[in-house]
Amino acid sequence: MIPAPFDYVAADSGPHAIELLATHGDDAKVLAGGHSLLPMMKLRLAAPAVLIDIGRAAGLAGIVVDGEELVIGATTRHADLASSALVRADAPLLAHAASLVGDPQIRHRGTIGGSLAHADPAADLPMALVALGGSVELTSPEGTRRIVAEDFFVGYFETALQDGELLTAVRVPRRPGVRWGYEKFVRRANDWAIVGAAAIDGRIALANMGPVPLRARAAEQARAAGATNADAAALAAQGTSPGEDIHADRAFREHLARVLTRRVLEQIS
Ligand SMILES: Cc1cc2nc3c(=O)[nH]c(=O)nc-3n(C[C@H](O)[C@H](O)[C@H](O)COP(=O)(O)OP(=O)(O)OC[C@H]3O[C@@H](n4cnc5c(N)ncnc54)[C@H](O)[C@@H]3O)c2cc1C
Repeated sequence: MIPAPFDYVAADSGPHAIELLATHGDDAKVLAGGHSLLPMMKLRLAAPAVLIDIGRAAGLAGIVVDGEELVIGATTRHADLASSALVRADAPLLAHAASLVGDPQIRHRGTIGGSLAHADPAADLPMALVALGGSVELTSPEGTRRIVAEDFFVGYFETALQDGELLTAVRVPRRPGVRWGYEKFVRRANDWAIVGAAAIDGRIALANMGPVPLRARAAEQARAAGATNADAAALAAQGTSPGEDIHADRAFREHLARVLTRRVLEQIS
């Protein structure tokens, strides 16, 4: 459980981090809260030669309103999302999701940018962002591009981030007063979802039902066409491809997707 040797450099700001990424290229990895990267390094599943620490980089943390969206800096911690009056008012689904990540220690170190860039299909914030129809901003020396959450997650622990790009901000539509639902099935309080479901605005997202957070489109379409919650939820596992592990086989995950989808639909009805 000892990582391979690495060099460490702290970025002063977002632009400094992007400059350091350009300098060190493929050898470097960004370090945010370290709660996913450091375990991977200790298991030698990752062995970057250089860590670029953005944890204290100026200008990368914070939550502001920009018209109809909240703009959340990449190094905003889960605990700050969960307790932010702005997020609780304008995107309560996201605040709730953040409040369920791990335990207090993890929520005080882990960041939204780190969670999204890590792209664990069982994680809370990727599913929440897909449900909310949010997007991310990716910045490189060439400029900033914006990509919607569903296109950002491209495979198992794989995103659309290109070499040299830093995830700098997350954009979330403001939905004050809109009903939402959130369910996470776990064996222990600080675990990742065995299966998760989130719903808002007629959109339903699922965690751990495939290599990326998925939309339950058949259930969404049935509900839009007037099906009951139970009938719509019965379609929740259509089009999914859940894996199997010690916690659940495929059939159990499909069952959980149907049950949790019915619950989140009841929460928004
Ligand atoms: C015991 C335990 C329980 C947990 N439980 C949960 C849970 O219930 N739900 C859940 O969702 N998560 C859970 N997590 C994961 C936690 O949310 C992590 O904090 C999060 O996944 C990673 O965020 P981080 O800031 O720590 O990122 P890091 O570990 O620092 O980085 C993760 C990856 O993202 C890259 N990265 C980080 N920031 C950026 C950026 N701005 N731009 C580009 N790349 C970047 C890094 O290079 C690395 O590859 C748990 C973790 C632990 C250790």
